Amino acid sequence: MHESHPYVKDGLLAHLLRPKRISFIVNPKAGTNLQKHIRESVDRHLNHKKFEYDFRFTEHSGHARELAEQALEEGYEIIVAVGGDGSINEVASALMHTEAVLGIVPAGSGNGLAMHLGYGRDIDEAVKMINTATVKAIDCGLMNGRPFINLAGIGFDGLVSNMMKGSNWRGFIPYFLNSVKAGLQYTPRMCRIEIDSQVITEKCFIISIANGPMWGYNFQIAPDARLDDGLFEVVLLKEAPKWQYFAAVPATLNGKIYEADFVEHFRARRVKIITEGESYIHLDGEGMMLEGELDFEIMSKALNVLVPEQE
Ligand SMILES: [Mg+2]
Repeated sequence: MHESHPYVKDGLLAHLLRPKRISFIVNPKAGTNLQKHIRESVDRHLNHKKFEYDFRFTEHSGHARELAEQALEEGYEIIVAVGGDGSINEVASALMHTEAVLGIVPAGSGNGLAMHLGYGRDIDEAVKMINTATVKAIDCGLMNGRPFINLAGIGFDGLVSNMMKGSNWRGFIPYFLNSVKAGLQYTPRMCRIEIDSQVITEKCFIISIANGPMWGYNFQIAPDARLDDGLFEVVLLKEAPKWQYFAAVPATLNGKIYEADFVEHFRARRVKIITEGESYIHLDGEGMMLEGELDFEIMSKALNVLVPEQE
């Protein structure tokens, strides 16, 4: 009776029992350098009966998306982004609207999405989590057709991301220093914001279009944001004396930013923003400057993500 049933050998069961194929897409320049140990960690901690795997290393910006597309074409079922929110953004862009599942091994500086999903900051723990993780469908955002998974921001946080661009110094300290600098430098700009059918005209320090709640490092700009409710959480930090923004920083760590007088928040499916001149923007931490109308649209449950079992 040790011979396997022919159906097990070639048929449906064989298909179901066959190990799933994972491709790890590694950003060797990600914030923490922890990803240097990814091979060793996967060899040691991944369940080799359940999974077959390979590694692909990115060489330039945009490469993670290309590598993820290749892996998809080759039939990989799980594509794991080893990096920060930027790497996750690229891999997710390739995986949206497919059956494939995004995995995350956080190795960036902030790791806003990974932290919210319950991944820690430990590479070995994240790899072990893959063995028992479950799959969850989450929403994705589009800004003028460009996808984002966690957060889009216009204003102060967009300026911080633009300051971080091209800098090789990553981690909390440079983010902190640039945030202070940007906080002193950035002046609230007049914006016309259409939130579904509501129109708001306001001077804003930050407009956050949130799918997930967290910038990273446990700073929550949109504590009520849910990844799977088919809606954006739109958070406005309106004009206020500068010291009030600085004084509100602890509130962002406690999930209490909505209690500040200068904060308003909304839920919406569609958001349109018109500002005069160029805006500082970030999509999942990637800084850019754009002029003209910004059009945000949510794609409900467009992406499958591996989440830790307890979620
Ligand atoms: Mg939502």
